Amino acid sequence: MAARKKTTRAPETKEEKVQKEKVQEEKGQETTPQKASKREIPPEVIERVKKLREEIEYHNYRYYVLDSPVISDAEYDALMRELKELEAKYPELITPDSPTQRVGYPPAKEFRQVEHAEPMLSLDDAFSEEEVREFDKRVKRLLGLPEDAKIEYTVEPKMDGLAVELVYENGVFTVGSTRGDGYVGEDVTNNLKTIKSIPLRLRPLTDDAPPVPKRLDARGEVYMEKEKFKQLNEERLRRGEPPFANPRNAAAGSLRQLDPNVTAQRPLDIFFYGVGKVEGYEFKTQWEILTTLPKWGLKTNPHCRLVKGIEEAISYHHEMEKKREELPYEIDGIVIKVNDLSLWEKLGTKARSPRYALAYKFEPTQVTTQVLDIVLQVGRTGAVTPVAVLKPVKVGGVIVSRATLHNEDEIRRKDIRIGDWVLVQRAGDVIPEVVMSIKERRTGKEKPFVMPKTCPVCGSPLVRKPGEAVWRCPNKNCYAQLVRHLQHFASRNAMDIEGLGEQVAKALVDAGLVRDVGDLYYLTVEDLLQLPGFALKKAKNLYEAIQRSKKTTLARFLYALGIRHVGEVVAQILAEHFKSLDKLMNASMADLMAIPGIGPEVARSVVEFFRNERNRKTIEKLLKAGIEFEDVKEEAKEKPLKGLTFVFTGALKSMTRDEAKKKVMALGGRVASDVSRNVDYVVVGEKPGSKFQRAQRLGLKIINEDEFLKMIGEK
Ligand SMILES: [Zn+2]
Repeated sequence: MAARKKTTRAPETKEEKVQKEKVQEEKGQETTPQKASKREIPPEVIERVKKLREEIEYHNYRYYVLDSPVISDAEYDALMRELKELEAKYPELITPDSPTQRVGYPPAKEFRQVEHAEPMLSLDDAFSEEEVREFDKRVKRLLGLPEDAKIEYTVEPKMDGLAVELVYENGVFTVGSTRGDGYVGEDVTNNLKTIKSIPLRLRPLTDDAPPVPKRLDARGEVYMEKEKFKQLNEERLRRGEPPFANPRNAAAGSLRQLDPNVTAQRPLDIFFYGVGKVEGYEFKTQWEILTTLPKWGLKTNPHCRLVKGIEEAISYHHEMEKKREELPYEIDGIVIKVNDLSLWEKLGTKARSPRYALAYKFEPTQVTTQVLDIVLQVGRTGAVTPVAVLKPVKVGGVIVSRATLHNEDEIRRKDIRIGDWVLVQRAGDVIPEVVMSIKERRTGKEKPFVMPKTCPVCGSPLVRKPGEAVWRCPNKNCYAQLVRHLQHFASRNAMDIEGLGEQVAKALVDAGLVRDVGDLYYLTVEDLLQLPGFALKKAKNLYEAIQRSKKTTLARFLYALGIRHVGEVVAQILAEHFKSLDKLMNASMADLMAIPGIGPEVARSVVEFFRNERNRKTIEKLLKAGIEFEDVKEEAKEKPLKGLTFVFTGALKSMTRDEAKKKVMALGGRVASDVSRNVDYVVVGEKPGSKFQRAQRLGLKIINEDEFLKMIGEK
């Protein structure tokens, strides 16, 4: 049963109002309607109430008449709750036509109407254990039982389908109808007859089966299995028909067909859960109903159970929430009912919902939100996947800000545009996905997605094999390149982001959160919580480390960019010389080669790097994120080799020992004649002497000529 089919749209009865006041008194709250009528109501409240009513009416129409809701049940519930709260606070605002006062929506005109012999009440929803315990307390209070009494309850999976009632007269199925507004439904007799699990005649099927009653109004929930729903939607997409948002909508849409032949082709099923009017038999308990109906051929859910006390009902909720994914059909909560039917009368009903039952819902798995952007994610295999960047929203118990769009064809088929409102789904540990776009909410500003021709990571032209839906980056090294680049960018001598090693870099790329280093600075703690093994503390630590790294030096930043041939030393020379990123970015080959220590190879690499459009965009993104260089002048005074002591052993190929010495000194370093613990680097050339062995024994840092040249920016 949908969350939306709530009873609260019925007018409050006197009894209910009295009850409410009683409860409020018990809670020690004030009810002051007199005071309320005299006070001024803020205009924004009046405006909000008006807006809420319009929205709710619209969604009622979408839901009940068109079978095509454009918001999720959870969101609808939230609107309704807000309106109810405002009306409770400002009772003067209640009008007879407020949706809170309505008795539901009329069935669509085309169907014959059927009046239910007994109203099909719908249940109040609970979303937390506290609300469920409150329900239990209220039951005991109303029955005059002590607080520690353990009530016997039946607990049942709450099917996410369409409620119907089937009238059996002398065992023969005569009329079947939808729940409608609870009092009057639509005649779907012939459609129901197409459902194979519905018996057209009841018979005692077991030895202990009681005789079939003279009249039995059996109530059940029509549903569609998840797998069959998927197949149906695939077929519909192939035929160019709009897909159903979820199995419940598919079931409702299939049952409410004017042509039963269409219904017959849809894979519908039913579970019975209760009775309405019964003549010729008297049920004593809900458990008796659940166990007797199958004896006459009416299928009930095998997961139903009898429990003692509310805590057992709560455990059952947890148990079913875990089982939820593996069940072949969708359930959206559990139903808790007082087992003893004689207590039902004592407890009675308020408005249209009974006081003896409660729907304890699970976290919703579908919500609507907006697509802020569509970006590309490169996977380990080179597959390039479009990902929707969403306005963050809570679904399935976690905040979701991204959802896969699978591939280009899928986006086109579902017609998902940047700026669209979409239905997003996340069930269990499955990756969040965009189910459909809500075209009714378009403003005309939405932009269709155009698949880029090149890889967002390495710039290679993307390729797509005939017959394949996936675009791929042909550069085998692409994914690894991005991971390595991230790792280098975050390393200690670069931006120094603590906690961003290889594993985290991979996880960030896999999750589609980072496509270039610029993305790092736009990550939120919630984004990071999506990474495997990330709890709040770890996510916060990484977030803070990233934020801290924004304060850096130009030299570190240049080194972090990973420009070919620009190691730490060259980065320092460039920073010192230009003292400004802007000037460096616009420097020519000649400008660069005029700097001592910068050769043609380095100069070309630097010019090419800054000329590249993607690199410029990444840098722009980084600067926009707030990267700041500490006083560049201060930094520039420092020589890159300042404080470092070198020792040479063996012959260098590219220069004499003296030339090498001068270069080290020009960059602020010292050259010692012999090894000691004070030496930072031992440069080893051809045929090194005994200094080499002693350096090894002392565990000093030993570098070869190539590494030395890189340090001083000659390579
Ligand atoms: Zn690539």
